[in-house]
Amino acid sequence: MKLSFSRLDLYLQCPLKYKYRYIDKIKEKPSPFASFGTSIHKTIQKFFTHPDGVPTIYDTYNYLEMSWIREGYSSSIEEASFKENAKKMLTKFYQDNVFNYMKACTIEQYFEIHLNDFIINGYIDQVNKKGNTYEVVEYKTSKNGKSIEEVEKDLQIATYHLAFKSIYGFPPNQVIYYNVRSGVKLGIKVTSLMEEFILQTYKDIASGILSERFHSQVGVHCRWCDYLRICPGREGVSGRQITFPF
Ligand code: SF4
Repeated sequence: MKLSFSRLDLYLQCPLKYKYRYIDKIKEKPSPFASFGTSIHKTIQKFFTHPDGVPTIYDTYNYLEMSWIREGYSSSIEEASFKENAKKMLTKFYQDNVFNYMKACTIEQYFEIHLNDFIINGYIDQVNKKGNTYEVVEYKTSKNGKSIEEVEKDLQIATYHLAFKSIYGFPPNQVIYYNVRSGVKLGIKVTSLMEEFILQTYKDIASGILSERFHSQVGVHCRWCDYLRICPGREGVSGRQITFPF
């Protein structure tokens, strides 16, 4: 069985949401935040694979135009406001990265992590080569940045560490969590203890999916869940009543 990292991550957030999306195949509405995040990611990919020397700020804005995803916005005014915000973020990103600009070693590199009875697959955002060392970079655009303690326990960061090892045969020098919104970059080395913990977490998730354990997991994430209106979690089925903002 192959499981993408995004599936594992969703199951960890809420098994019932996983079921709605992947088993029942109930379509979700396109979200402005998803479109915004993907547009920024694609712009950064173009920035770090610029064909000719160091890109200018105008190249960067042009890459944003080429990468912009229009779906998910409720009006052209909302879309314009998100795009303005994207330009501001990319202006800061440009200032922070232009002086030590180096082309990426790889972008969106496919990986597979083989475990006993299943495979985890996905794509690594970016790998940089500096001399004889390598670093993996994961870009985020969320408002809520992470602390170094949170990054050290982050499933995705540890997954990219294992993904790199599965491709190159040795660990990266560091895995960097880069919040493009705030400009904060946090680099960590994943320990062998964390590797063991992550592998056990993968096994637990795979076993939950295979044995069809799809309980609701109520939390703050429910506020942005498209399945809220059909979810029994709304009635506090999972044991915790929550207050919805509408
Ligand atoms: S509303 Fe919350 S509990 Fe229900 S499916 Fe969505 S994330 Fe899960």
